[in-house]
Amino acid sequence: MNNKYDKTNIFSKILRSEISCQKVLENDHALAFLDINPQAPIHVLIIPRNEYIDFHDFTENGSSQEISYFWKLVNDVLKNKNVSESGFRIITNSGLDGNQDVPHFHVHLLGGKNLGRMIN
Ligand code: 5GP
Repeated sequence: MNNKYDKTNIFSKILRSEISCQKVLENDHALAFLDINPQAPIHVLIIPRNEYIDFHDFTENGSSQEISYFWKLVNDVLKNKNVSESGFRIITNSGLDGNQDVPHFHVHLLGGKNLGRMIN
C-alpha cells in the first residue's frame, strides 16, 4: 500500500463506516455512493476499497482483479441509473491541476441531463 496515503480522508472514513453514505452498489473491491453535493441529477462516486490516492496510483499498483472489479462496478452503476442509453460523463480529478479534493481515488459518474461542454 502507498505510505503517502492519508487515512483520515473522508472516503477512508466512509469505507470504515465511521461516517455514513448513500450506497448505490458495491462489490468485493469497490463501492458506489451518491455525491453529497451533486453537480447533476445523477452524481455517483465510485471508489476502490483499498488505499489508492489517485488514478495513477490505482492503475500502477492495483491488482488486475481490483481494476476489473472497479470498472465492472462503474458499468453496473451505469445500468442501475439507466444512463447507458441517454449518456453520461465519467471524471477523475487528480493532483493540483485536477483540483482533487479527496485523496482517495474515485471517479465521478454524472448524468441525467445534458452536461454541456467538458470544460467551462
Ligand atoms: P474531488 O474534487 O476530490 O474529485 O471530489 C470529491 C467529491 O467528494 C466532491 O464532489 C464532494 O462533493 C464529495 N464529497 C465530499 N465529502 C463528502 C462526503 O462526506 N460524502 C459524500 N457522499 N461525498 C462527499
